[in-house]
Amino acid sequence: MGVESGDRIAVALSGGKDSSALIYMLNKFFHDRRDLQFVAIAVDEGIKGFRKLTLDNAEKLTDKLNMKLFTYSFAHEFGFTLDDIVSRGFEQAPCTFCGVLRRRVIERKAKELGSTKVFTAHNLDDEVQTIMINYIRGDIERLRRLNMHRIDEFVPRIKPLRSIPEKEIAVYAYLVGLPLLTAHCPYAKLSFRFSVKRMLNEFEMRHPGTKYSLLRGYEHLMELLPPSTEHQRRLLTCERCGEASASKLCKVCEIIARMKMH
Ligand code: SF4
Ligand code: ZN
Repeated sequence: MGVESGDRIAVALSGGKDSSALIYMLNKFFHDRRDLQFVAIAVDEGIKGFRKLTLDNAEKLTDKLNMKLFTYSFAHEFGFTLDDIVSRGFEQAPCTFCGVLRRRVIERKAKELGSTKVFTAHNLDDEVQTIMINYIRGDIERLRRLNMHRIDEFVPRIKPLRSIPEKEIAVYAYLVGLPLLTAHCPYAKLSFRFSVKRMLNEFEMRHPGTKYSLLRGYEHLMELLPPSTEHQRRLLTCERCGEASASKLCKVCEIIARMKMH
């Protein structure tokens, strides 16, 4: 699935190099297509000393490209920030909460804005990390979901950069003059993903091509697997928020309940 005439595309923009490069490319290739509309959605998770820098960048870039930017925050949408969640000392890494909540904000807002598709800037490294995380955990269901339209997803998500290595996107961003921020999320190192990222980078350095072959191998494997039973399962509605969910209470409402309890 790609860009089709009449599409209203919401681009998830963090203001980091990948999403900045994506929005820059979309503007470059499609700016004269009157049959398409692009808007940017940014999410402020509430990470002190980090997110403001990238959001400022997102604002400057969308101003320059004359693209509308909608910014939403965890604080406003859920009543607490990611820093608040972290301060409660839950066992899971911050990224676990962050990913679930950010996904909800983007999904809900894209729907409200009438978007037909959501573009995200996941690159080859992100994609291969996710594949490897699920291999390690033996989570075949999630591996499968990665490759298809999710049952709890109303607006289809597309990752146009999923086969481009992170380093190549960084070089592109540098060459076209996009600001390269050196700020990193302070919570990134606490995630399982971070260990997998380090391992894959080491492998790639010693055995160039590892990331591509992992992605191709995964795609080949998906062709061989029988269709998912979960995917065919009847879609439930969360009994609290009414959003589509794979269980009675969706992951977002679970987090909200934990925040109220603690
Ligand atoms: Fe959220 Fe983790 Fe990304 Fe930080 S690194 S913004 S906590 S998903
Ligand atoms: Zn819910």
